[in-house]
Amino acid sequence: MGRVIGIDLGTTNSCVAVLEGREPTVIHNQEGGRTTPSMVSWNADGDVVVGAASKRQMVTNPQRTVFGAKRLIGRKASEVQQLASRLPYHIVAAKNGDAWVDVAGTPRSPQEISAHVLAKMKRVAEDYLGESVREAVVTVPAYFDDVQRQATKDAGAIAGLTVRAILNEPTAAALAYGVQHQANQRLAVFDLGGGTFDISILAIENGVFEVLSTHGDTALGGDDFDRVIIDLLADDFAAEHGHDLRADSVALQRLKEAAERAKIELSSAMTTDVNLPFIAAGPAGPVHLIRELERGQLERACKVLLDKLEAPCAKALNDAHCTPADIDQVLLVGGMTRMPAVQERAVQIFGKPASKGVNPDEIVAMGAAVHSGIMGGELQEVVLLDVTPHNMGVKVAGDRMSVVISANTSIPTRAKKIFATTEDDQTFVAIEIFQGEHEHASRNRRLGRFVLGDLRPAPRGQTKVEVSFTMDADGILEIAAAEIGTGRAASVTIEASSGLTAEEIARLGNRLAR
Ligand code: AMP
Repeated sequence: MGRVIGIDLGTTNSCVAVLEGREPTVIHNQEGGRTTPSMVSWNADGDVVVGAASKRQMVTNPQRTVFGAKRLIGRKASEVQQLASRLPYHIVAAKNGDAWVDVAGTPRSPQEISAHVLAKMKRVAEDYLGESVREAVVTVPAYFDDVQRQATKDAGAIAGLTVRAILNEPTAAALAYGVQHQANQRLAVFDLGGGTFDISILAIENGVFEVLSTHGDTALGGDDFDRVIIDLLADDFAAEHGHDLRADSVALQRLKEAAERAKIELSSAMTTDVNLPFIAAGPAGPVHLIRELERGQLERACKVLLDKLEAPCAKALNDAHCTPADIDQVLLVGGMTRMPAVQERAVQIFGKPASKGVNPDEIVAMGAAVHSGIMGGELQEVVLLDVTPHNMGVKVAGDRMSVVISANTSIPTRAKKIFATTEDDQTFVAIEIFQGEHEHASRNRRLGRFVLGDLRPAPRGQTKVEVSFTMDADGILEIAAAEIGTGRAASVTIEASSGLTAEEIARLGNRLAR
């Protein structure tokens, strides 16, 4: 059996690690970097460029350079409209409504785009190990739903990787930290990356890692902070010159780069200069954007985003039956936790400073490598108990969500509920499965539907159907329904629902392998 690699497929950057002996080791890419930009470009000849080379050509090739595909994966175009209006590339709706990217007239799925990043990470590992790699553990935000997880698995398949496990990013971070610091303790993993915020509370006891709760916001990350700066700069520029830089994709791309650079510089400096010469053409010739930004300005402008960090933390503590005083260590994960105002918020929320000595860019990939060791038997003494991040249930009369497995239940798990018919002589029931926290089923994510037919005719309410949900350790859900008394049964496995068919995955995989 070949080696299983651990990949942190990040919104902004990705990282790959392997277990060497019992130590997770981050692997340098061919350019010498320990992380690789999650960016993919198609140049004019149709060649694909990934990573740092793609980032370098982003400004000159904005409409064919895709970043942040993780924010699109497994989502509908209608769900990402707000985001789409601020991107230099074009989002289109695929036939099934999924959010795809139009790259110079060719619609491409986020799975395909992410597959290029995964394939690059695979090559990085192969160069280092000197052998071919076929299997990986890939991390996702804890708050990803089933469709997003499945889509990530499909991206792996396109890249020629069997995804042995989809691991939650905060759990990965805790695993990497926990195997290095073996004490029994409670951890809060505060993970703010380029696109998402996750908070998980874990208990480590004698090698058993138990996730007690997890919450988050899939629409809160570094890109949102960049956008605040873009708006600040563009609004001032528009007021002065009457020209909206956001309407021009090349100017917007330059503005985005400058905004991110300014944000990063303001993590270590109190002021920074934004300098974008020839950003627009005015009646009297070229116009330049030159201004100073202060850390205080950035923090004031981002207050709304910083405030959004609080509610998920409060919910996670509550679900774990903990108070901040019960938490022994706070781990900061994700590049955005380098921003001092983010660190201050974490200190305010948990009442203690965060753990030092954790590299927020690498710890998730290291945890994925540790997980591969648990699965492969190299780290037999470590046991991981994870939770499901969302309510799962079925739609009942009045579009209500009847929850069968609640959020933050330890997985694997199994739960049952009994439902009665609502009409006389009902001959079948249609079981529609949803995932999410809203009390109205249709406001949640629809995972699938199946029908149990040939029911015994009876007055309404008398025929009873038992619905059972079984979720495995990977979060894959199987649902069965049986008529009580007759044993008539039907079942469905909620899998391959990422929006791509097996043929499409195989076709894209062949194309990518060439
Ligand atoms: P990740 O998804 O964990 O790679 O996080 C990437 C995000 O962290 C991007 O939005 C980066 O701009 C941001 N980031 C990286 N370094 C810093 C820094 N020193 N200060 C503020 N944000 C940073």
